[in-house]
Amino acid sequence: MNKKIQIAIDGPASAGKSTVAKILAKKNGYIYCDTGAMYRALTLAAINNKIDMDSEEALMSLLSQLSISFTQEKDGQHVHLNEKDVTNEIRSNDVTNSVSKVSAYKTIREEMVIRQQKFADSSSIVMDGRDIGTVVLPNADLKIFLVASVTERAERRYKENLSKGIESDFEKLKQEIADRDHYDSTRKNSPLVQAEDAILVDTSGLTIDEVVEKIEKLMKTLF
Ligand code: C5P
Repeated sequence: MNKKIQIAIDGPASAGKSTVAKILAKKNGYIYCDTGAMYRALTLAAINNKIDMDSEEALMSLLSQLSISFTQEKDGQHVHLNEKDVTNEIRSNDVTNSVSKVSAYKTIREEMVIRQQKFADSSSIVMDGRDIGTVVLPNADLKIFLVASVTERAERRYKENLSKGIESDFEKLKQEIADRDHYDSTRKNSPLVQAEDAILVDTSGLTIDEVVEKIEKLMKTLF
């Protein structure tokens, strides 16, 4: 049997992780796991069920009743929460602005990591998030830490919103991205940090294709 390959992509919000990870997975026939979507799905369920987000216990009890799964559809990967398709809902502002709080709890992270490691057991995988190279897949074959300036990341998010017909306030977007980075990087449990053996890729000024090409070159040196 062929060895299962693991590629870990970490980095701050809107650095292009999921776009790049999806392309790499598709090109190489690996599965893709968007770990941020899992924290977002839990946050959505907490909002919908009016769960107190200050209570780690209440969130844990909710998570124990949730199945979070991914399916591959014609238009890309879809996220399901107890069989309901929540692909778009988990990207709402309400979810985005609360997810860092939910993802900071130790027991929540432990449970999510167990689920993520199970995904990685089944097949070669590209996984993106904040703690993949440090905690979830510490023995990954290739670890990438993707960064870009806050301004560039806010610009990408702004254009992405426009393409979906959503007008947004650029300065507010920029502030929200900076706040989420700060929260994710300074939390006690598994903060966003570059793994010692991760390769830093700065995507500022690069197109998606150029980033993919860079990572593919790195893959070739490894396998
Ligand atoms: O990647 P995305 O922006 O969708 O992630 C949403 C949030 O989920 C992050 O801001 C972070 O708080 C949390 N997250 C995490 N660990 C991961 C992936 C995401 O804490 N591995």
